[in-house]
Amino acid sequence: MKNLALHWKIIIGLIAGLIYGMISASAGWGSFTTDWIAPFGTIFINLLKLIAVPLVFASLVTGVASLSDTKKLSRIGGKTITIYISTTIVSVAIGLFLVNFFQPGDQIPDVMKIELQETYEKNVETKTSSAQKVKERGPLKPIVDMVPNNIISSASSNRNMLQIVFVAIMVGIGLIQLPKGKSNTFLEFFEGLNDVVLKIIDMIMLMAPIGVFALIAQTINKVVGDNISQVIELMSALGFYMFTLILGLILHVCISYIFLLKFYTKMPLQHFFKGIAPAQLLAFSTSSSGATLPITMERCEDELGVSEEISSFVLPLGATINMDGTAQYQAVAAVFISQALGMDLTISDQLTIILTTVLASIGTAAVPAAGIIMLIIILESVGVPSAGVALILGVDRILDMVRTTVNVTGDAAVAVSIASTEKQLKTYSK
Ligand code: ASP
Repeated sequence: MKNLALHWKIIIGLIAGLIYGMISASAGWGSFTTDWIAPFGTIFINLLKLIAVPLVFASLVTGVASLSDTKKLSRIGGKTITIYISTTIVSVAIGLFLVNFFQPGDQIPDVMKIELQETYEKNVETKTSSAQKVKERGPLKPIVDMVPNNIISSASSNRNMLQIVFVAIMVGIGLIQLPKGKSNTFLEFFEGLNDVVLKIIDMIMLMAPIGVFALIAQTINKVVGDNISQVIELMSALGFYMFTLILGLILHVCISYIFLLKFYTKMPLQHFFKGIAPAQLLAFSTSSSGATLPITMERCEDELGVSEEISSFVLPLGATINMDGTAQYQAVAAVFISQALGMDLTISDQLTIILTTVLASIGTAAVPAAGIIMLIIILESVGVPSAGVALILGVDRILDMVRTTVNVTGDAAVAVSIASTEKQLKTYSK
């Protein structure tokens, strides 16, 4: 066990969690799992979140301060955002093509539609009111939100990661402008902090197999409850929708990311996927790209050879704004719901979906189930009743796991590509 690669240990935890979750659901051990197993998952996620702010801050300050001039920073920034947006558009296009081709919404029996709407009516109400709050924000609000008025309060919530990124970049730029003698002490402190944080991540990862076991067991417990047959019925009714989305997500990984890696780097695909696998597995188990961020950064730097300067800039930004999986899910779900409700979407509606999903995925928080709130806004933009979300809520958690994995894979593929173009990839640079 000691010499086993980390991703194998996590896979074992994941499979054990799956098996235990199934047994627990069929044996009715729900409250035992919640009381005695789930807390280990919560501790694991809390540890990951705990480390995210200091890690991003320390590595970004040292990363930016090591740049010789600020021009380089804006060049890297421009490239990163362009690739992020382009891959998101491709992802949405793949999803739209598949959902229009397979028409999964036409396959749901009417009785099932009524049943689903009744079961999830209450949940939709709470999601709709959250969506309403997001909608009331002005168009420039996301930019305003990036600039904090108090560093301590921004550091108090991981949701404010972009504010941390903003402050760290400002501090880094300030450091570049100071004479060496004056900036050294400050810089050495952050370098030290960064090293300590990386060591703490190694310690946290020792717990990963247990954490993943507990997270998966509790997810099954929550999704299935003590009623396996209802879930099987739900999965078979929505199976075609799930198939369409998962196929689209796999195609996106195979087309867009493999293209990026082949085009910009000489990295063998196996090396990339093996290196990033632990982060993918954590994304799958936590459904949160935010919580996975420390591991994504560590794997990109240590295993894939991305320089700290690139990873500390590209990855926190990606975790917050680059969500190819989420964007594709929002597009597929919107069209699926409109098909199920018997509403035909015109070409212009579909174009609106491309635009709104790209924007919505940028605004989606890197936490579980955030994508569905933005989906309500997308539905409204094409005139589909938001109550239709009830149709897909039952299987949303499972799809959240898959789309978050794609989100994280996308961030890593872009980080490796940008590093290669900047000659900051240790090996396999083009
Ligand atoms: N859970 C996703 C993430 O953290 C966001 C979403 O699609 O709900 O990347």
